[in-house]
Amino acid sequence: MTDADVIIAGAGPAGTLAAYELATNGISVLILEKSQFPRYKVCGAGLTHKILGEIPFDISPVIETRIHNITFSKGLSERFTRYSTEAIMYCTNRDKLDDFLLKKAIEAGARVIHGAKVTEVAQSMEFVTVKTRDGSFCSKLVIGADGASSSVARSSGLRENILPGLAWEAEIRADPATVKAFAQTVFLDWGTFPGGYGWVFPKGGHFSVGVGGPASLSKWMMPYYEKLLGYLAADHGIHALETISLKSWPIPVRIKRSRFHNGRILVAGDAAGLTDPLTGEGIYYALKSGVIAARRCHEYLHAATPSLESYTKAVNDELMSELLEANRIKHLFNTVPRRIHHFVRDSDRAWRAFVKILRGERWYADVPAGFGKWKVMWGVACYLSKWISDYSSNRFSKTGFKKY
Ligand SMILES: Cc1cc2nc3c(=O)[nH]c(=O)nc-3n(C[C@H](O)[C@H](O)[C@H](O)COP(=O)(O)OP(=O)(O)OC[C@H]3O[C@@H](n4cnc5c(N)ncnc54)[C@H](O)[C@@H]3O)c2cc1C
Repeated sequence: MTDADVIIAGAGPAGTLAAYELATNGISVLILEKSQFPRYKVCGAGLTHKILGEIPFDISPVIETRIHNITFSKGLSERFTRYSTEAIMYCTNRDKLDDFLLKKAIEAGARVIHGAKVTEVAQSMEFVTVKTRDGSFCSKLVIGADGASSSVARSSGLRENILPGLAWEAEIRADPATVKAFAQTVFLDWGTFPGGYGWVFPKGGHFSVGVGGPASLSKWMMPYYEKLLGYLAADHGIHALETISLKSWPIPVRIKRSRFHNGRILVAGDAAGLTDPLTGEGIYYALKSGVIAARRCHEYLHAATPSLESYTKAVNDELMSELLEANRIKHLFNTVPRRIHHFVRDSDRAWRAFVKILRGERWYADVPAGFGKWKVMWGVACYLSKWISDYSSNRFSKTGFKKY
């Protein structure tokens, strides 16, 4: 006797959209979530426009700001602002977004148990047993959507090829007139250290301010965050009147095609390491992998497929190909950050391509084809830049901001 056809560990975007998709298709689904909702989650909660195409219902009730401008800086200087007539992204708060998505899943028929922390999963030929501190549950399939420190991924051997990233973020209260003045503008700093970036996202009544990058450079992140605050005050008149929370959280980055299932267990979202190595964006990939996982579970339960191998294939084909190209672009950026910064500033074509990628009208994977007959040169440049980028990271970890 099972507790549900599918148990989902975690009620973030990956888990809730998977649950919604399954429940809508009449499959019994139980979400085990360790927290009580609504709960705070460290996240910029910037939703790129392409996300709207992945969610089958309107999320405008939880959108706080619509972004048309990006103010870029390189090393917190050389700033310029680019404008798009169409919205590029939307900002929300994760407590609201996740609670909204969970309610949609429940309305569709999913059940949820809050305060149920999954500690381990074990599978037999027919079932999966999901252990929590307060007891065990049983299902035919399990989707691990339990985030960056996933217990499901760990206990089912699906953690290989993940590069640890890290980000620090705070919610900053500023003068309301200033928050309003920048309500359509995102600040994006890049090229301050290899693979690192800083952001400022305007919310309804405050800013989310954060920095992120490879975990190996974590000791430089707080100094970078302090510099970012100084830059905001000096160059943009954004003064932090109150810091509501300042926390760090891992960003797992999958750097090779991998297995995303093991028998009856699948992993999605951060649990699968599906984040953009260039920008740290993860919500899109969480939603997308959650839906793919749900559809593959559906097919499997209706005996249309003999195994969940099709899930691993779909994630590699549809998501990893994109993320691997983003990783190549990241290495190239790390090698010539100033040139790329100037390229986005001076070339309308480059800016339009950037906007189209955020809007989901073009993909990273289209970039090499854009070089036409020079495509091979692009490949060579990316290949070489990986070594230069690794060298820069090593050097940076010793010398800090001075030499990059
Ligand atoms: C500082 C920072 C800023 C970011 N900013 C952005 C951004 O602006 N835009 C963007 O797209 N991405 C951003 N990301 C990435 C984004 O937060 C994640 O990629 C996204 O949340 C992944 O969604 P998920 O559903 O896979 O996991 P999560 O959102 O982490 O959800 C996992 C859920 O599982 C629960 N859980 C965890 N462990 C267990 C357990 N053992 N048992 C049961 N439940 C469990 C958690 O409570 C949580 O509710 C940011 C990340 C960080 C760290």
